[in-house]
Formats: sequence, structure tokens, C-alpha cells
Amino acid sequence: MKNNIDAGPVLEEAITRNGWKPATRFAAFPDKISRNGHGTPPLDHVDSAQLIRELLRRIGEDPDREGLKQTPARIIRSWEELFGGYRQRAEDVLVTQFHAEQYDEMVLLRDIEFYSTCEHHMLPFSGKAHVAYIPEKKIVGLSKLARLVDVFARRLQVQERLTQQIASELQRVLKPKGVAVMIEASHQCMSCRGVRKQSGKTITSCLVGAFKHNLASRTEFLALVKN
Ligand SMILES: [Zn+2]
Repeated sequence: MKNNIDAGPVLEEAITRNGWKPATRFAAFPDKISRNGHGTPPLDHVDSAQLIRELLRRIGEDPDREGLKQTPARIIRSWEELFGGYRQRAEDVLVTQFHAEQYDEMVLLRDIEFYSTCEHHMLPFSGKAHVAYIPEKKIVGLSKLARLVDVFARRLQVQERLTQQIASELQRVLKPKGVAVMIEASHQCMSCRGVRKQSGKTITSCLVGAFKHNLASRTEFLALVKN
């Protein structure tokens, strides 16, 4: 059976990665169980909207009530965007590079707003990223730094890895003298459940190359970010 709502490779991949085996039994779809004759519907026979309907049932909802009818389709569309980063690489957004032989001072894009999803609870975390590099003959458009943040924010993440991936991928593709990334974020999994601390902000940083080895560069970055 063809999925009538195609969630794309993101969901398929997530399903595979999470080890959902074809033998998974879905009590909610007895017709499918009897139809294939083995009592175990292969997962690729269950479309994404049906999976979400089953999740709605399991939290105690009626997926057929008016307000929820379009919800599975809406979730799938929003996931296409929220997890669109899996279909992109750093080289896709840093493709245009300019020569800047003379300029070797720090380039900093501050306060890049981002939204990501924590991989432990699949709840949002969001905040600001500050991305800096010291050019080695080449620069990129500033908006490209913001897009680079999105490539990695639009995946299931932990803040530490998000910070580190932005830094190491910018270093790998642009090959500047150094990269510094700092992220400040609030995590909804902390504010709406568990410890319920509303105001807590998590700050992470990653320094590569010149920023790691040169105290002056590091100090300048921290001073500019704090301003
Ligand atoms: Zn979480």
C-alpha cells in the first residue's frame, strides 16, 4: 500500500533508526492485521497519518473528533519543516564563498534566532546562536551562517551537539583560521515538565582553531557576544 500522505525520508529514517520492526503489532488496525494473513502488519503498510492517529488514541484522545481530523496531516507537514535539516548538508548552504584576501579580522553574526527539538523528549528548545569565524582568504554571506544554524537545528538534537556541529561543519567547509559558536537556549522539556524551571537558560560554546589557541580572539568573541 502506498502512503497517502508521504512524510518523506525523515520519518522513514526515524522509524528505521528507532528499531521499529515490521513485526510490530498495531492493535488499532485490526483490518490490516487480518488482511495480510500473518497477524503482523509490516510497518510500511501503515502510513504516517495512521501512526499519529494511534499516538492520539494512546494519550486518551479520539482521533476522529472534529478538531483532530486534520491533525495528523498538519503534524506531518510541520515535521517536514522542523526536521528538514536531515535533507541538507553544510556545503549546500555555504556553496557561495567570496575571496577576501585582505580581511582577517573576526566575522560575527550575533543573536541568530533558532528553533530545535530535543531528542530526549521531542519537545522544542529555542534561543539564540552566536557564530563567529576568522577568515582565511574566504568569507561567506552572513545570512548563510544563519542558514547553517538551521541545517543542524532542524533535526532531533541536544544543545551540546548542535553547538559542536555548527562549529565543526563551518570549519570543515569554509576552512577559516578558527570558529566560535555560543548558544543560549531554553528547553521546553525543562519548563513544562520534570523540574519545571521556567527561567533556566542553558549556555553552550564550542571553540575551534584560533579561538581555542588564541586568548585574544577568544576574549574578543566573548566580549562581543555579551554586549
Ligand atoms: Zn528534553
